[in-house]
Amino acid sequence: MSIKENVDIILKRIEESAKKSGRDFRDITVIAVSKTVDAQRAKEAVESGIINLGENRVQELVKKYEELKDTNVKWHMIGHLQRNKVKYIIDKVEMIHSVESLSLAEEINKRAAQKNLLCKVLIELNIGGEESKFGISEDSIYEFLKSMEDFENIKVMGLMTVAPFSENPEDVRWVFRKMKNIFDEISGMNYKNTQMKYLSMGMTNDFEIAIEEGANIIRIGTAIFGAREYKED
Ligand SMILES: *Cc1c(COP(=O)(O)O)cnc(C)c1O
Repeated sequence: MSIKENVDIILKRIEESAKKSGRDFRDITVIAVSKTVDAQRAKEAVESGIINLGENRVQELVKKYEELKDTNVKWHMIGHLQRNKVKYIIDKVEMIHSVESLSLAEEINKRAAQKNLLCKVLIELNIGGEESKFGISEDSIYEFLKSMEDFENIKVMGLMTVAPFSENPEDVRWVFRKMKNIFDEISGMNYKNTQMKYLSMGMTNDFEIAIEEGANIIRIGTAIFGAREYKED
């Protein structure tokens, strides 16, 4: 199937999940995850109506940023970000989804200040508690947001998670539900430099469950571009 057909199917499925949970599908943003996908195919997604593309590697993001410069695509950094690479993407990304340490936040703040930018970020939570996953624990999010009050060039726009993989996505519904509870709780609090707007969760395997539980950004790779040929991590 073509990328255009895949995108159309995803949009339809989003609409159905939104309907099922009484939500407006227009409130849900799809990020097409173009990691390992060449620029031509990434461009095809943009021509199929995709506005947001996600990458998990700095080098690849920067390369495609140049190759797709004549489109209006917005780039999202969704993968583990090393401090020494922040400078390469700070003025190229719409949002960084994977902030999971104070030292990374500090570096983002510093580089954003140098360019006179306000960098939008999400805080990555590790709800499943898997050791192989990045993200801060749910217990430390409050203290973390308190520390973010010092960073004038960062705006925390919400939370992100990668749920543990399971053949049956129902198995991870609790992860999404817990994320939404934390999201709502923080929304009622008053941290400086934080405005809870986005809940980024759900991938090819589990996005419908994530939407039912309140995701408003989903990150879809395989269902749009097909299976990746090589391992990305
Ligand atoms: C690769 C990746 C995705 C997309 O995964 P698919 O299962 O291919 O949809 C989403 N989020 C992150 C952080 C990723 O690294």
